[in-house]
Amino acid sequence: MAESKYIHNALKQVHVNTSCTSVVGFSISGLATYIQLPELDFCIDMGECPLSATSLNHVFLTHAHGDHARCLMRHHSLRKMMGVERESVYYMPERICDGARDWIRAEAMFEGVPENKFRYPEIVGVSAGELQFLEHRKDLALEAFEVKHSIHAMGGTIYHYKKKLKEEYLGKTPDEIIKLRESGTEITREVYDPLVSFMGDCMGESLLENQRVFQSKVLITECTFLAPEDYEMSHKKGHTHISQIADALNRMGDQVKCEKIILAHFSMKYSEKYIREMIAKEIPEKFLDRIVAFI
Ligand SMILES: [Zn+2]
Ligand SMILES: [Zn+2]
Repeated sequence: MAESKYIHNALKQVHVNTSCTSVVGFSISGLATYIQLPELDFCIDMGECPLSATSLNHVFLTHAHGDHARCLMRHHSLRKMMGVERESVYYMPERICDGARDWIRAEAMFEGVPENKFRYPEIVGVSAGELQFLEHRKDLALEAFEVKHSIHAMGGTIYHYKKKLKEEYLGKTPDEIIKLRESGTEITREVYDPLVSFMGDCMGESLLENQRVFQSKVLITECTFLAPEDYEMSHKKGHTHISQIADALNRMGDQVKCEKIILAHFSMKYSEKYIREMIAKEIPEKFLDRIVAFI
């Protein structure tokens, strides 16, 4: 039992290294989820706000459940307290923006902030399929997508944006390139490289409904339920069962381009030992070396 207490400390962070960013945070169902991507200046959810999260300028809330959202304003006010001048930006599904504003205002009033001193943080509503360049990182763009959960929820993909020389100009000398550019010829093409996709809280079918997440270098997906007898429960609660991840991986086969697949948001009733055993048992062998348990 001592073991499960150990994995349930939200401030004891898990660290995972990947080729495009480190992934640092905590995610246990019902307790707290926050996943920091420091190299991308981005945090997925804010169910807890350790000091390490305050340096990140962009936060995305996947949905309104408290264990994912409750420290949003703590993030904002800690930054103010620490004298961070840059305005942090809070992205969230368009449909929950009004609710978030009401909640933020109510919290400020509860804390006795005078009406004339109250100011909303910068909230940006996102819609499915819209590409949103990050406010303080114009080389990164976020595209959100709908997922199925017990309440409205979204996942997202972070793309690295760059301009690349078109194929036909690859062999040219720098002088020739300069001349072409001066003559007004469009010599570059835009490239969007999918770095990290995250599912947030969702039912297992949301993976196959958003197949492009398997193109990302890193995929972070929830894996709340593991035991065979919890399959029904996963549907009822709007979460993913590990067998659905195994099924999606089998179906996608060689189309899975992810270097790492991070499984997060396990139910708090499972021990670390059981989680690792079930992953080894359920995930197809071919993918096992790419799977990381976020515990
Ligand atoms: Zn959750
Ligand atoms: Zn949830």
